[in-house]
Amino acid sequence: MTDGLVVLDRVSKRYGNIQALDNVSFSIGRGEIFGYIGPNGAGKTTTIRIMVGLLRDFEGAVSIGDHPIADKGGDVQRMLGYLPQDVAFQEWRTVDHALTTFGRLNGLGKEELALRIPEVLALVGLPEERHRKIVHLSGGMVQKLGLAQALLHSPPLIVLDEPLAGLDPASRYQVKNIIRELSRKGTTVFFSSHILSDVQDVATRIGILSWGRLGLVGTVEELKAYFGIEKDIEVFLSKDSGRWKELESIEGVKSIEQTAPNRLFVRLEKDADMDEATHKLIHGLLSVGCQIRSFYPASPSLEQLYIRYVGGEHP
Ligand code: ATP
Repeated sequence: MTDGLVVLDRVSKRYGNIQALDNVSFSIGRGEIFGYIGPNGAGKTTTIRIMVGLLRDFEGAVSIGDHPIADKGGDVQRMLGYLPQDVAFQEWRTVDHALTTFGRLNGLGKEELALRIPEVLALVGLPEERHRKIVHLSGGMVQKLGLAQALLHSPPLIVLDEPLAGLDPASRYQVKNIIRELSRKGTTVFFSSHILSDVQDVATRIGILSWGRLGLVGTVEELKAYFGIEKDIEVFLSKDSGRWKELESIEGVKSIEQTAPNRLFVRLEKDADMDEATHKLIHGLLSVGCQIRSFYPASPSLEQLYIRYVGGEHP
C-alpha cells in the first residue's frame, strides 16, 4: 500500500539475543483506527518507540506522511502525538503548566495555547482540572492528561501505548469515544492493548502481534472469518453416558471436550460441512446413549479465539 499515512516496511529489532520484532510490515490509512494487539512482551512498545522516533537503531524502514522517520528536524515529530505506556508528569506542576511546556516544545505560541489547552481538556473530560496540581489527580486523570498532551498540537496521527490500561469502566468508555471522535474528524489513531475486547469495538483494523511477528491484520469481520468463529457447537446433555469421546471420529469433528458436567464443547474442522456434522453428531450422541437437552452453535468471543491464537493454536 502506498497511500498509508504510516508505513512500516520489514521492521526488525533485536535486543541482544531477543528478537523483539521480526520483519513487521503494515500500513495505516488516514482516519483509520489501528488496534495493535499482542500479549505482554510481544513487541508492541518496541514498535511504538520506533514509530515515534525514540528508538532509531532498527532494521527496515518507517515513514509517516511520506517522510522517513529518521529525517532530521521536527517535521515528522510534529505530525504525531504520543502517549507513552507509563505517562508521567512532574507532579508539582499544574495541569496548565505541564500542557504549556509540552505545547511550547511542539512549537505552539501563547495565543494558540490559550485556545488549545481548554479545548483538549474538555475533549478528554478534564475541563475543571486546568489549575489543579498533578499530584492531586487520580491515575485515570493523569492518563487522560497524557492523552490531552498528545492532542495539543492537533497532529494528524496519534500513537497511544495502552491508553485504556488502568482506567475504570466509565473512563474506558470515554477514551474509546474520544478515539472514535478523533477518527471521525480525520485523525489517524494507532493504539496498543493486550486486551482484544478493548479494541474490538473501536478499531477499524486490528494487527495481532505475537513473539515479534505480525501474524494477522484485518477488520474484526476478517478476523472472525479467519478464526472460523461459527464452527463450534455447544451441547448440554440431560444424560451423559460418558461415551461421547468416541464421536471424535465423525468426519468434520476436530475435538470434543467436556467443559462442565453434562456440557460438551465440540470443535469442528475449519472446512467442515456444518449441517452434515451436526446431523451426524446428534445421531452419534443418541447412539452412544447420551440424551440431549440442547444443542446449538457456540460463538466463542473474538477474545477467546485471540487468546488461543497467541497461545500457538492456529486455525
Ligand atoms: P507489554 O505488553 O508487556 O508492554 P510489549 O508487547 O510492549 O509488552 P516490548 O516492551 O516491546 O513488548 O518488549 C518486547 C521484547 O523485547 C520483550 O521480550 C522485552 O523483554 C524485550 N525488551 C524490551 N525492551 C528491552 C530493552 N530495552 N532491553 C532488552 N530487552 C528489551
